[in-house]
Formats: sequence, structure tokens, C-alpha cells
Amino acid sequence: SLHVIEVFFGTMNQQFSGLDLNASGHQSGGASGASKGRYIPPHLRNRDASKGLSDRESSAWSCGRDKDAYSSFGSRDSRGKSSYVSDRGSGARGRFDDRGRSGCDSAGSRDRAGFGKFQRSEHSRWCERSDEDDWSKPLPPSERLEQELFSGGNTGINFEKYDDIPVEATGNNCPPHIENFSDVDMGEIIMGNIELARYTRPTPVQKHAIPIIKEKRDLMACAQTGSGKTAAFLLPILSQIYTDGPGEALKAAKENGRYERRKQYPLSLVLAPTRELAVQIYEEARKFSYRSRVRPCVVYGGACIGQQIRDLERGCHLLVATPGRLVDMMERGKIGLDFCKYLVLDEADRMLDMGFEPQIRRIVEQDTMPPKGVRHTMMFSATFPKEIQMLACDFLDEYIFLAVGRVGSTSENITQKVVWVDEMDKRSFLLDLLCATGKDSLTLVFVETKKGADSLEDFLYHEGFACASIHGDRSQRDREEALRQFRLGKSPILVATAVAARGLDISNVKHVINFDLPSDIEEYVHRIGRTGRVGNLGLATSFFNERNANITKDLLDLLIEAKQEVPSWLKNMAFEHHHKGSSRGRSKSRFTGGFGGRDYRQNSGSGSSCNNRASSSRSGGGSHGNSRGFGGGGYGGFYSSDGYGGNYNSQSVDWWGN
Ligand code: ADP
Ligand code: MG
Repeated sequence: SLHVIEVFFGTMNQQFSGLDLNASGHQSGGASGASKGRYIPPHLRNRDASKGLSDRESSAWSCGRDKDAYSSFGSRDSRGKSSYVSDRGSGARGRFDDRGRSGCDSAGSRDRAGFGKFQRSEHSRWCERSDEDDWSKPLPPSERLEQELFSGGNTGINFEKYDDIPVEATGNNCPPHIENFSDVDMGEIIMGNIELARYTRPTPVQKHAIPIIKEKRDLMACAQTGSGKTAAFLLPILSQIYTDGPGEALKAAKENGRYERRKQYPLSLVLAPTRELAVQIYEEARKFSYRSRVRPCVVYGGACIGQQIRDLERGCHLLVATPGRLVDMMERGKIGLDFCKYLVLDEADRMLDMGFEPQIRRIVEQDTMPPKGVRHTMMFSATFPKEIQMLACDFLDEYIFLAVGRVGSTSENITQKVVWVDEMDKRSFLLDLLCATGKDSLTLVFVETKKGADSLEDFLYHEGFACASIHGDRSQRDREEALRQFRLGKSPILVATAVAARGLDISNVKHVINFDLPSDIEEYVHRIGRTGRVGNLGLATSFFNERNANITKDLLDLLIEAKQEVPSWLKNMAFEHHHKGSSRGRSKSRFTGGFGGRDYRQNSGSGSSCNNRASSSRSGGGSHGNSRGFGGGGYGGFYSSDGYGGNYNSQSVDWWGN
């Protein structure tokens, strides 16, 4: 197996010399890895007390974190006598909570500009005045807030390459796409923030989705991981809110002529499957609502609900939420969706699969949210299986289906390696890979189970690597801390379960390792999509052995599709599996057979359950004529016990920690 590793690195070195993955330095290996301030995994903390773990560290975290998360709210001036102060001392609140609030207080009134009038009074006067105000005019700038919001961001050398990606938009009267942000009027505030974010030009999904959303068309959009889907919905929605102002929602809030801040009526709702993704989308929303009167909020499970409620009470125009916590907020009467004009499902195929569907229906169909056709609904993902598309129809009205690249395909910026590694050799193979990783790059290691995550983290920790882990059994505080340490590069290795597979945008993740391969191809696509984002290059290595036979065919198709090197043993296995597998009636690969390769309405004709028959318009590069990937077909076995369904059944919602 040494030979295998040598051959492997030989190829790696050739192909990824630019990735800083060469064996130039042993990444914080050995005893030096256990230096001061090193992150200690929660399950090792008591055992390893001598190695530098201290309560001080974790309390420092909660202070720091709260400050980060809430500093922008801490902008009341000294006159502001809000509920936020009067609540203090009331009842049994955790340590965490109080500290957050003092962190908030100490942040003082520095960034008052961020929330304008609202921050200054927080009384009914605010509402009475603000509906006369013009929401499209920017509030004064704040240097500090600007610094905080816009310091990150890096587009890679292959950013321009996106222009070659074929695009297909189907549906009636699809508005034409734009080439530059300035081709559509998004107003002064948005344009200023685009500039601050240093977005020089729109990504393909943005070019197409922005005009569609501006024209208030419902949308189901598929685009590769890391291609800017978040801004594709946030920019046009926020721009619309700035143009239209708060409207009815504000009147509703002023019940009996008095501003009722106990219940908030957001104008826009974004739902996401994991807590960390919700926080990330919220942070993006903060960027694009800078200098506006829109106040974004986020609610998610595992964190103190009291604190989230108090934050909501300070005003909420755009809400990012995980479904479970949102239902809780609705039942407590803290959130009313009566005036929610814009609904977004990010990672929509995940949001509509069996784990979440009932909650989504509860939120969207069984409460006070305006019905489809009245509200404006948008769905985004990199994968969109046909069955889920059909389900999605329930929530969409006359929608446009947008596919940037082949749906479910992976970015060519990600180099994919599949190596045969027997179960017992996985750890030593992993060590070799980690040792060959450059100092400044981050490595994300996926495992199948929570227990597996703990034990691998434990192992790496004792091998001297600075690593952290994230999974559904961890407390939310530990999850966020692990992610923070990883983002900062303090723990350059993150061991994760599927909870980290979707949506997370962490710059500098150079390598994704599937220590355990997932059993469905969508999960694989999302996992490896944590690298190779916005034109950056990335590497994904998957350990494959006989346990992974079920993904063979889909993986093979995907590798060929993405023009990746395919090991001959994988081809042989796929061939054998195909012949064995066909007797079980699942002869057609999910990928070629209907990975969501196109708008499913294109195949179903007028008998479709949707109310409109789609027509098609195409643009972009020429290669889309190739039927591969766009070719529809059956999706047999999708919910069969050996496929997707069984997989999600056994893991339910808890698996995600929501
Ligand atoms: P996706 O949801 O498609 O996986 P994200 O929305 O998370 O991708 O975006 C990935 C990264 O790209 C983010 O860091 C975002 O700030 C950045 N980004 C988005 N749009 C642009 C753009 N037009 N120019 C430069 N960077 C962008
Ligand atoms: Mg995303």
C-alpha cells in the first residue's frame, strides 16, 4: 500500500502543485501541535485538563462569540430604554445569555448608523415615522460596521471560467439575463454593498436569477456549489424591499394604533436545513442590508430561545431560520408570516425531503403565510432530484426552472480522486494525506456517524493534529466553536458528519476527504462542494472499499461528467454491479436517469400536476445540446429501501441536529 500512496501523491503533486498540498510541512504535527490555545475537543476536555483546556477558554468563546454575533445590535444610544434593558435580571437565564447581553451593552452605541432610527428610539414613534421614510435611501455609513461586514472574500483564478457554463431556463416568458449588476436597477443601497463586497461581476446563476426575481417570478434554481446562490436571492429580494418599503406589515404591527413589537411580521423568510448555514446566510444578509432600514434576524435550534426572541423584538424584516425553531417561534406568537412576501428555500431538495417536508408544510401551508401566487417563492440547490421537483410544485406558481451547468454536477474546479482504502487502513492513509497538506490550507474530513466523528477526532488529536469536529450530538455552542476555530485556521482539520455537507462557505478549504463515502450521490456532490468555491481550485479525495458498492455507478457517471480521472477498478466494479443490480429492478443510474438533470416538466407534458406547461429558452455555451445530464428519464427506486429513502428514514431530523 506504500506504493499506492506514492503513486497517489505522484499524481497529486503533478496536478495540485498550486494547491499547497505538497509535502512541504507537517501541519502542526507532533508535540508542537499541542501548543498554547489549542482547541480541545469537548469529549476530551475533562480527560486532558492538563493540556491547556480551561473554562477560561470556553468562556472567552462565549463572550467573543456573543459580541460578534450581537455587536451590531448593540447600538442603542444612552436614551434607549428598551425591553432589552428592562428584561435584564428577570428570571432564570443561563450564564451564556447574560454574558451575551453584557457583551452587547459594552459594544455601546458605536454603530448606531447600522439601524438608523429604529435603534434610536425603539418606540412607536419609530414606526410612525419610518413608513413615511424612503427605504430606498441609504443611512449614514459606519466605518466600524463596514470593517466588520466586508473584510472577507476571495474569488479564485478560475472565476471567469464560469462564463462557459451552459445555462437552461425553462418556463413561460422568462426574462432575459443580465451581464452586469448595473444592467438591472437594484438601487443605491444594493449597488453600494455589492461594491463593498468586491463583487465585480455576477456569477452565472446571479445573471439569470436576479432579473427573474426582480420580475417577481417564482423560481427553482440549480447551480453548482460555490457559485453564489445566496447573493442570487438576497440581492433582488432586499432591493425589492428597499424599493417597496415595509407596507402592510408595519400597519399590522401597529395593532390598535400602537406598535406591537412582541410579534414580528418579517417581509421575507429564508429557510435552511442546518443551524450553521442559517447563521451564514444571516451574515450575508447583514452585508447586503448595510445602510438600509431592513433588519435581518436569525433563529435556529440549540441556542437560547430567549435571546433570539429579544433580538426579534428589536425588529425583523428578513428572517433566516431552521424549520424547527421557526415553528416554535410561530407557536409562541413571536413571528407572524401574514405579510411574508418572499419565501426562499435554500438547499431546497433537502428542505423538501422526508426529514423536513412536514415542517415546511406546517410553516408555508398551514399557517398565515400568503398562498402561492400571492407570495413570491424561490428555491435553490446544487441538486434537484425529479421526485423533489414534483413535490416542490406544491409551493410554486408558474415558476421558471433555471439550470446553470448540469444539475447535480460538480464544479470542474474540484479535482476528484477516488482511492481504494480498506477499512483497517483508513486511519493511516488519512495521516499520510494530512502530513502532505500545506500549512495554510484547511482540510474537511467527512465520516458517516457521530461516534465515528468523535473517535476520529480523538485519534487525530492524539496524533498531534490540531483538529475539531462537528456533528449533531454536539452542543450548539461546541458546534459553532469548532466551526469558528476551523474558519480561523486554528484547527485546520475539521472532522464532520453530513451536518456540514450543505451550504457552508469556508474560504481556504483546499481538501475535502470522504473518510467514509456517503450512500447517495447528492450528499457526495454537496460534501465535495465545500472546496473549489468561487473559482478557487480544490481537491476531493474519497476512500472507497467494498462497503461503498451502492454508490459505484452514480459516482462513476459523476466523475466522467466532471472530466475526472476514473480508476479502472471503479469502472470494472460499476460494470459488475450494474449486472448484478439490474435484477433488483434498479438498472438505471440515478444520475443519468434523472438526477434532476432538467426541468421535469419538460418530460411530463400537459398532464403535469403543475399549472403551466413549460417552454424552454437556452443561453450560454454551446455544449448544453448534449443530452447527457439534461436527458430526463425515470427515477426508479428513488425511495426504495436501498436508496435515498432508506437512508434518510433511519436518520430523521435529529441527524442534522435540528
Ligand atoms: P453557493 O450557495 O452557490 O454554494 P455561496 O452563495 O455560498 O455559494 O457563495 C460562495 C462565495 O462566493 C461566497 O463567499 C460569496 O461571498 C462569493 N460570491 C458570491 N457572488 C459573488 C460574485 N459575484 N463575485 C465574487 N464573489 C462572489
Ligand atoms: Mg448555498
